[in-house]
Amino acid sequence: MTKIAFIGLGNMGSGMCANLCKAGHEVRAFDLNADAVKVAESNGAQAAATIAEAVSDADVIVSMLPAGKHVLSVYFGEDGVAAQAAKGALFLDCSTIAVEDAREAASKAEAAGFLMADAPVSGGTAAADAGTLTFMVGGPDEAFTKAKPILDAMGKNIFHAGASGNGQVAKIANNMLLGISMIGTCEAFNLAEKLGLDAQTFYDISSTASGQCWSMTSYCPAPGPVPTAPSNRDYQPGFAVAMMLKDLHLAAGAAKTAGAQVTLGEMAEKIYADLDARGHGGLDFSGVMKDLKQELG
Ligand code: NAD
Repeated sequence: MTKIAFIGLGNMGSGMCANLCKAGHEVRAFDLNADAVKVAESNGAQAAATIAEAVSDADVIVSMLPAGKHVLSVYFGEDGVAAQAAKGALFLDCSTIAVEDAREAASKAEAAGFLMADAPVSGGTAAADAGTLTFMVGGPDEAFTKAKPILDAMGKNIFHAGASGNGQVAKIANNMLLGISMIGTCEAFNLAEKLGLDAQTFYDISSTASGQCWSMTSYCPAPGPVPTAPSNRDYQPGFAVAMMLKDLHLAAGAAKTAGAQVTLGEMAEKIYADLDARGHGGLDFSGVMKDLKQELG
């Protein structure tokens, strides 16, 4: 049993916190939203009214927050985690944030005498609820070793990606590839259909040929071939356009800093930004298919 503080009980954090409680850990839960704290309480956590109350005697602090600015202020702002946590506590941020922000947070933590790891996840709310997330962890070996049993209670695959920030690198590079491959898959299905080849037949051929990819065989954007895909429920998410756009912004920003050319990544970012600007941020990211068929406003 470990004493854990959990900060950020939203769509993802709520299920992750519940799984830590289920695994027998003693969890104190904090969120700015009092209703989210009540849900955590009903799942077995103790409610905390402030960051200080959540973290003061915790061995591990887990956070699942919207973006880098929230992470930096929760950990290093006035009355934040670093000012209140007990000596030796491990900081474990599972939010998806910029690589630079994750590295800044890790070096601030180190300067304050704490170990910190970035541990962003792959898998949406269903995986968060089921405890089957994939974690990509960046940070020193000692942080990873300490984090592993905690992450095991919330996930199925736990990878140590290397030094601080490398968890975020793995996450954004993977999701940039996913955004690009999804758009390519949508274009291929749309082209085949326009030329008179139905989606199922194209799927049967391409899924066993060189066009095969995850976007096709696990998440087919054309309705029919993969029954569990959002395309069969009018593109309700799943993984929303706005979430993909966030990750593509992070990838494009990091690519600029690193001097890496990501031409297709930038094109994918533009395509999702356009969908978002037209009011389709809540649509599943495979909804590009619907747009190609000119079914969206
Ligand atoms: P969310 O907006 O549902 O939850 C964020 C929570 O943080 C909210 O409850 C909010 O009240 C709380 N919060 C914000 N500022 C706070 C502060 N200063 N102190 C305490 N609580 C604060 O977001 P989410 O969908 O749970 O996503 C969380 C993170 O996980 C994001 O970085 C996102 O990119 C990443 N992620 C999400 C998904 C997904 O499918 N939703 C999948 C993978 C990764």
